[in-house]
Amino acid sequence: MATRPTQQIPGVYHRTLGDMHIVALSDGLLFRDHTMMRGVDAAAAREMLDAAFRTSFVLAVNAFLVFSGDRIVLIETGSGDYLGPAAGKLLASLAVTGVAPAEIDTILLTHMHPDHSAGLTDMATGQAHYPNAELVVHENEPRHWFDDAAMARGTDREKKLMFQQAREQTMPYRKRMRTFSKGEVVPGITALPSHGHTPGHTSYLLQSGGESLLIWGDVVHFPEVQFQRPDVSMVVDVDPEAAAVSRRRMMDMAASDRLLVTGMHLHFPGFGHVEKAAGHSGFRFIPEAWRQTL
Ligand SMILES: [Zn+2]
Repeated sequence: MATRPTQQIPGVYHRTLGDMHIVALSDGLLFRDHTMMRGVDAAAAREMLDAAFRTSFVLAVNAFLVFSGDRIVLIETGSGDYLGPAAGKLLASLAVTGVAPAEIDTILLTHMHPDHSAGLTDMATGQAHYPNAELVVHENEPRHWFDDAAMARGTDREKKLMFQQAREQTMPYRKRMRTFSKGEVVPGITALPSHGHTPGHTSYLLQSGGESLLIWGDVVHFPEVQFQRPDVSMVVDVDPEAAAVSRRRMMDMAASDRLLVTGMHLHFPGFGHVEKAAGHSGFRFIPEAWRQTL
């Protein structure tokens, strides 16, 4: 008799983009609620959840592996063991692809929050999970998270999960860390600064063979709310007003240019398109259908 499955398989999804091959990798989920947002009250948040047929606010945590020419690039590293048992599954997802961590030569971060950078280093051993990778990040990120004065102004939670995490997780990579301000950071991958959520938060535009993909990082945390209300920010935004401006700019660009987008907190694997909504000043997200072939 067949055995009834008792758990889900790792989250892995393949997609090509011109000559590039992209693998969306799930790190798992974070369970949150409306108090993580500012600018929307509990009743309005509940109404938008209901309209999307969802019962609670769940954050997908995604990363993306990119094969570009002879490079293997990992965009984000997941949350390691910092954010609970429903997340931290990136290495298990990566294992399904057959790519060993030592084969990854570049790690790009959109920013240094724990759901993005806390999978860099095994804290039990102090060893890098990716021993041969160069770590590439916007120059404002280490500048902010390594700043003792900024850390002193943070709450205890921010000190530990953000400032301390960013410092200890990047430690084994310090001698192979490259920072940028904008422009092409890896062949075919261009940095589009979208600051606000953090001082160096950056989206990445991938281009190959006439096709484009915008991997926009944390432009959206809660799709059920922030597409129709791009003004809604997060309590963890370092500069919420700037984050809202960046969000609207990225959504406008995606809608005007009919860009394929994905993000770190769009429901896995997150690929889809953005259009201007009819009847209000926000936007609408149209997920891309699952593809059987590459
Ligand atoms: Zn995030």
